[in-house]
Parts: sequence; structure tokens; C-alpha cells
Amino acid sequence: MNTNKSTSDEYVIPAQRIPTLPVNGTDKLFPVHRIYCIGRNYAAHTIEMGHDPDKEPPFFFQKNPDNIIVDQDFPYPPETSDVHFEFELVVALAKGGKNISVEQALDHIYGYGVGLDMTRRDLQGVAKKLGRPWEVGKAFEHSAPCSALIPASEIGHPSKGAIWFKVNGEFRQQGDLDQMIWKVAEQISILSVFFELKPGDLIMTGTPAGVGAIKPGDQLEGGVDGVCGLKLAVV
Ligand code: MN
Repeated sequence: MNTNKSTSDEYVIPAQRIPTLPVNGTDKLFPVHRIYCIGRNYAAHTIEMGHDPDKEPPFFFQKNPDNIIVDQDFPYPPETSDVHFEFELVVALAKGGKNISVEQALDHIYGYGVGLDMTRRDLQGVAKKLGRPWEVGKAFEHSAPCSALIPASEIGHPSKGAIWFKVNGEFRQQGDLDQMIWKVAEQISILSVFFELKPGDLIMTGTPAGVGAIKPGDQLEGGVDGVCGLKLAVV
């Protein structure tokens, strides 16, 4: 029976803390509910992964909320020798719902940030080949380094602007938000048909072309012009 009581002495074991993102320029925290990620949402990246960008409806997977790290370096994970960066615009929802229309979708957004959809590409590749789920490739500890959030009340809803990522000072990803195949409002609308979205949900909105491997010692830096940046090392 779910009694919905929330005082901590109701729990039989210690409860984990709710994952959060800081809100830029404040001491407030954004409580994270779920992390949805869209696959192959920039045509050039779809092609580099060996797929046809014209033929695919959108598809989504999830990371675990507690995969988020903030203001922290990325520890190289176990059981892989091919970890890839995927630098992405992150959307944070203030309101949830089901069957949200494209026209109303942006009204559900609290703000924006940037993040990395870190991927154990070798394990994801095996999973794809065997028709298995992607969690071991996508939803591991520390696999979602994120920036603080910038409220939409400050920057509006960015639909264009450079999205870029550098490894050791060299450009590896350079795209523009206007190259998204499925726009942010469409992603929210489509997700809300399959899931009941909630306040606190994050959406990682896909990565431009240029993904590649990282190794311990690499210095990572990325940004979306007009939103914010992210800087960390691989340790
Ligand atoms: Mn991704």
C-alpha cells in the first residue's frame, strides 16, 4: 500500500537524496525527476552513426536521475574502452502533463542547461547488435555531467545558436540548435504521448555530429551560445 507519507522516519532504510541541478545565479535547486534522451536528432550525427535521417521517427531512452554530476570531473567508468562524449542542450520542465500539444509545449519549460550524454559506445554497440536494452551503455554512474540551469524567464526559448564541444582545446562538435530534426516543442509533445511528464523532468535533446572517444586526462569544454557552458576533465 502506498500511503504517500514522506517523513523520513517512515522509511525502513535511509532514502537517497533527490538529484538536483543548481539554478544559475541563485542558491536554489531544481529537483530532477526523470532524464529522457532523444536519439539521433541531428542529421549529420544520424549519418555518422550509420542511419538515414529521413526515415526515422524519433526514439527516446532514459538515463537515471542520479547519473547527474555537477561541478565535478568525469570519472572514467568501468567495463569499457570506448567512452564517447555527446554534448547536448538540456531542457528542464517546470510543468508536466499528458498529450501536450506542440503549441503549448514550451510553456512547460522551466529553463535550459547543457550536458553530456556520456556513452559506453562499445557496450551500446553490443546491446544494439543483440537487440538488448541500452542501459549499460547509457545509464551508468556519472554519465550525465550537467551545467546549472538558466531560467527561460531570462533567456527565452533558444531555437538557434551554436552548439559546440572541444576536447583539449580542439573543436570536435560544431552544430546549431536549428539543425535539430525534432524541435524541443515536438520532443515534449511526443514524449507526453508515451509518458506522463512531471515537473523536474529533464530532456537531453540530442547531439550534433563529431562524437568521439575520450580518455583520462582529457580536458572537456562545451557550450550553447546564448545559454551556457560546461567545463570538466576526465579523471
Ligand atoms: Mn545523446
